[in-house]
Formats: sequence, C-alpha cells, structure tokens
Amino acid sequence: GIEIEGLVKRFGSVKAVDGVSLAVEPGEFLALLGPSGSGKTTILMAIAGFEYPDEGRIRVGGEDLTWVPPNRRNLGMVFQKYTLFPHMSVLENIAFPLKMRGLGRAEREERARAALATVRLDGYGERKPSQLSGGQQQRVAIARAIVYKPRVLLMDEPLSALDKNLREEMQIETKHLQREIGITVVFVTHDQTEALTMADRVAVLDQGRLQQIGSPHDLYETPRTAFVAGFIGETN
Ligand code: ATP
Repeated sequence: GIEIEGLVKRFGSVKAVDGVSLAVEPGEFLALLGPSGSGKTTILMAIAGFEYPDEGRIRVGGEDLTWVPPNRRNLGMVFQKYTLFPHMSVLENIAFPLKMRGLGRAEREERARAALATVRLDGYGERKPSQLSGGQQQRVAIARAIVYKPRVLLMDEPLSALDKNLREEMQIETKHLQREIGITVVFVTHDQTEALTMADRVAVLDQGRLQQIGSPHDLYETPRTAFVAGFIGETN
C-alpha cells in the first residue's frame, strides 16, 4: 500500500497541496477526484518522485520513498496522451522499460508479449501506435506500465482524451485488469462518474486539501462538506 503523511507542496506562492494525509491499501483502486487546480496531479507526481514535497512523507510498501529518485521507486505510470513512442512498434514500446532495466532480448520479447495479451491486444505487436485506435493506444500504455510488474500503477486522466463510448468501455476494462493483476492503483480524474464507477475509494480534493475520503457509496450518501455534496452531485 501507499501512505501519504502531511504532504505539502508549494509552487511559489501557490500551495498546490496543503497538508494531505491518506493511505491506499494494497490492491486498492483509489481515485483522486477534484476540479482543475485542486492538486491531484501534484500528489501523483510526489508519489512518482517527479516532484519532491516541501513537507511530509511518502511510503510505499512500508518503505520511505520521500527522497528516492523516480527510477528507483518501481512504480508504473500512464498519462492522458503522448505516452507512446511513435517510431517504435507496439511490442518495442512495451519492451522499452525492460531494455532500460537491462533484460536480454528473449526475455523482453516474452514479457512484452505476455503484457500485450493481458490487455487483449495479441496480434497487434508489430503495428505502430498510429495504426491503433485511441483506446488501443491507452491499453498499450497500460501494458508498458505493468510489464516490469511495478508495485503500484499511477494513472493521470488516462481516459479523458477518448470519446465518451470508448471511455466508458475502457473504464470497465481498466477496472477488470486492475482486479485481475491485483495491483494498487491511484487514478487522477476530474470526472465524478468515472471516479465513482471505477474506484474502491475516492479522495475528494479542493484547493490542495483533502475534503473527504471514502467509498463511492459513503460519498454519495454522507458527504461531509458542502463542497463534496456539490461536486459529487454534479452530473456531466
Ligand atoms: P488539473 O485537473 O487541471 O490537472 P490538478 O488538480 O491536477 O488540476 P495540479 O496540477 O496538481 O492540479 O495543480 C495544483 C496547483 O498547483 C495549481 O494551482 C497549479 O497551477 C499549480 N502548479 C502545479 N504544477 C505547477 C508547476 N510546475 N509550477 C507552478 N505551479 C504549478
């Protein structure tokens, strides 16, 4: 699991994250939900190690990672877009993190093919990303993020560039995949419906502060602040 304790991150005079503490259970799917500028991405970047906090600590699997560089955290990441290398084939894209880790060609190929099968794209390995649909490209990005078996998968609005139908399909698929491989996921979204349908628990943020964390049911039935009530109640 992940423990975040008293996280503070400032950018100049802006407090992007203002004293956030929360824990993610092993194998849990946590959504970070909030409007633009509420600090979701900054929290994710702090977990990933791309931003170091001004205050607070971050532990993963009981290990203090607060000052550990990103490449030594063993976390997988998927972003909204521009995630694949356009000049590489699908399989080369997926195998890339394994190459960085010095694995031999045969093992890279075997593991990349297995990851491709996990996201149900067998047979697409030789294509270029531009020859895939947006949803297929995001599945490849997920395969690449899980190919070295990270302990946590961090996702920043991975589905928001997709059209509505595809997005809904991918929400279900991504959720299934997460259950299947039993990985801990932190998923950033500004879309209430997406958070409520996918997550085991949702952390609602506003202006860098954690408003409430709880199951979709809890948030819906017993919002603790007017902000949560208003934000969760909004329909898209
Ligand atoms: P969005 O949904 O728009 O991505 P968010 O909830 O992910 O928003 P953050 O990106 O974490 O919010 O930003 C929180 C605040 O910190 C915002 O006011 C933002 O402008 C500011 N901020 C984030 N990153 C930087 C940076 N690198 N430099 C300066 N300010 C930043």
